[in-house]
Amino acid sequence: MTTATRSTAEWQSADSRHFLHPFTDFKGLAKKGARIIERAENIYLWDSEGHKILDAMSGLWCVNVGYGQQSLIDAATRQMQELPFYNAFFQTATPPAIELAEVLAEISPPQFQHVFFTSSGSEGNDTVVRMVRRYWDVLGQPARQIIIGRNNGYHGSTMAGASLGGMSGMHAQGGLPIPNISHIEQPHWFELGGTQSREEFGITAARWLEDKILALGPERVAAFIGEPVQGAGGVIVPPSTYWPEIQRICDKYGVLLVSDEVICGFGRTGNWFGCETLGSKPDLMTFAKGVSSGYIPLGGVMVGERVAKVLIEQGGEFNHGFTYSGHPTACAVALANIKLLREQDVVRKVREDLGPYLAQRFAELNEHPLVGETQSCGMMAAVQLVKDKAARQCFDGALEVGMMCRAHCFANGLIMRAVGDRMIVAPPLVMTRAQIDEMMALIKRCLDLTLAQLKELGQL
Ligand SMILES: *Cc1c(COP(=O)(O)O)cnc(C)c1O
Repeated sequence: MTTATRSTAEWQSADSRHFLHPFTDFKGLAKKGARIIERAENIYLWDSEGHKILDAMSGLWCVNVGYGQQSLIDAATRQMQELPFYNAFFQTATPPAIELAEVLAEISPPQFQHVFFTSSGSEGNDTVVRMVRRYWDVLGQPARQIIIGRNNGYHGSTMAGASLGGMSGMHAQGGLPIPNISHIEQPHWFELGGTQSREEFGITAARWLEDKILALGPERVAAFIGEPVQGAGGVIVPPSTYWPEIQRICDKYGVLLVSDEVICGFGRTGNWFGCETLGSKPDLMTFAKGVSSGYIPLGGVMVGERVAKVLIEQGGEFNHGFTYSGHPTACAVALANIKLLREQDVVRKVREDLGPYLAQRFAELNEHPLVGETQSCGMMAAVQLVKDKAARQCFDGALEVGMMCRAHCFANGLIMRAVGDRMIVAPPLVMTRAQIDEMMALIKRCLDLTLAQLKELGQL
């Protein structure tokens, strides 16, 4: 039973005695105590001390329609009363799962007519690995096993998801990556662009894929996977030349293209899917997070006709699936979420109004002495903190300037994430311009406080 009557200290003590948090130094957190979030409305959270916090990360990149949307709550209630769960294993299906599959085919690019459901993005990417390898097996090319991902890409935390991703800290634990996963360098102009223009660098970075395919042997390469815009890696928006060149290379060698749309999907970039904004035509798309605005766990893989046709017509039984593949309550919530996005014309508003406005307000931060670069795409944006703007010189990593800035955000009622010294936001898509202004004022204040602290420390 949950009781909201405990004090913060009591919650923290029970938390550290029993709850192992994801991606957390358990001992460090126990010493500090977790921040207890008790309720939320629209774009604001309230903690157990009564502080109001502007959630500029949409929970974890997922609460795209904001908190407290009654139509999603009603959809879950109604479905739980009627049929909370039934599986889809033994030649059965439920109306919400069928209807959601239909709606997803409608809003996805035209090559997608089929979906495989999971409960998370990680499971979606595990499904991608199984499906891609099965595809090449069925086609009589079992040597096509290798999937190429990118350094600093994020594809989840299951064995296959973490392997596809390029987070060195994750690979260092648990014997990862699994076999037949390979990585290329990320299209991060600020760090790797040298003296090239952004557009030139986009082509250079895409050609790293061609180099890798040739080094491995094209007959062994099954697929390439990437996020249209890297999210957890620090909201790294690739040059506009990057994805079209990646597409050209995949086409040239017959390599399947997988777009991980877990963050970029469902309107985040100003189109239903990030591949539409960044310019690729993938064979598979992983989704999760925004599909249900995080109100309930749901994920999946959109399967393009190139792959679907082979698996359906020649594949026989596909030996893969989850108890909750097509969970009716999760699907009902997703249907309500997509209905709301459509009725309120949210995706177009992000593309034509809110996204451009966020970009303009972030560009203004370039005048700040700490800011080396700003980037944005739809409703996601990043600020790179630097020691020396002109020289693109970063701070000593040991200083943890990003964490310093994040602490000021926390203390000033703003949730902003730090990825190294890159400060990032991905706020709800239903924000008003006035709320963007409110967020920008908080960001500006926290940059000023970080600057003052660095001066005090003699670092500037
Ligand atoms: C969050 C995320 C995942 C993993 O999703 P989970 O639901 O946490 O398993 C995969 N890919 C990307 C791009 C993500 O941001």
